[in-house]
Amino acid sequence: MKTKLLTKNDIGIAAEILRAGGLVGIPTETVYGLGANGLDPEAVGRIFTAKGRPQDNPLILHIPDPSWLERYCRNIPPAAYALAEAVWPGPLTMVLQRRENVPNAVTCSLDTVGVRCPGHPLALAVIRAAGVPVAAPSGNLSGRPSPTCARHMLEDMDGRIDAILDGGACGVGVESTIVDLTTSVPRLLRPGGLPLERLEEALGTVAVDRAVTAQLSPGEKPRAPGMKYRHYAPRAPVVVVTGDSRRTARYIRRNLGQHTGVICFDEYAGLFPGCPVEAIGPVSDKARQARRVFDALRAFDSTDVDAIYAQCPGSGGLGLAVANRLKKAAGFQVVDLGEGEL
Ligand code: AMP
Ligand code: MG
Repeated sequence: MKTKLLTKNDIGIAAEILRAGGLVGIPTETVYGLGANGLDPEAVGRIFTAKGRPQDNPLILHIPDPSWLERYCRNIPPAAYALAEAVWPGPLTMVLQRRENVPNAVTCSLDTVGVRCPGHPLALAVIRAAGVPVAAPSGNLSGRPSPTCARHMLEDMDGRIDAILDGGACGVGVESTIVDLTTSVPRLLRPGGLPLERLEEALGTVAVDRAVTAQLSPGEKPRAPGMKYRHYAPRAPVVVVTGDSRRTARYIRRNLGQHTGVICFDEYAGLFPGCPVEAIGPVSDKARQARRVFDALRAFDSTDVDAIYAQCPGSGGLGLAVANRLKKAAGFQVVDLGEGEL
């Protein structure tokens, strides 16, 4: 299959491919998604094949407008409408009870479905033009860092999908925040582009699933199927170092090997001469770190590094999502040097 590169003038072509059961890479504000008609089980099945995605890891249904919630969800709590009003279109996925018309292929036979209205004009335009909800996970091969530009998606998906719609670089850079609204207390299943603090403002107490910050023990059943898989990994193994950024920088400098790559904050980029370094932004700029984290992980694959150390932001704001992606890329290999910046 030849993968076509589409531009913003080709919305009609992208929509036509989706309606015909094909696969299209779609830019969103979070990361590029791999979209298919969410009402067509065969098309959805092709997403799993193209990505090499485990069959029990469900997809998010993307809708153009909150009014579509009722088409695919039932027993929708008032909190869902309040959140939709406050943050959609935007980087938040709500897990709600599904209706029967949502194919099992999307939910992996769960009785819930994840729904999101993305905040990117091209994503919204394609979904509207297709006239169907678009099922989409991130557009990377399973286990690899998520793509934040069309070129990264093409690296993973060339020849495996019909087209990629190039919408430039993603503004947020990490995937959506996922909150489960089917439990009595809302539960954060994945930190993402919408900070936890913002969710708490809208919902009050939000439980944070243990899998957000720690590895599940063998045999422990994850609340969200995607939580049990290794994710976001470059080819070389990653070790994340948490704590005060001056201390983590010194620790990494002391432990450099012959071919060590370093992910660090801009302030420390000069400390590792001779090493491939990916600076992901100043310590205090979490939004920039979110935009850079997947590109940084991916960049080491074109070097000869055999180990990667990463400085880790504190958990305030978007730091929770950045830290989660780094720790998952590291398979939770973490060196903790104690309290650091928030
Ligand atoms: P991706 O954005 O590529 O990670 O794929 C979608 C994510 O949404 C995965 O982590 C899924 O596990 C999660 N997800 C989708 N539907 C549900 C659901 N009904 N319940 C819990 N998590 C879900
Ligand atoms: Mg993904």
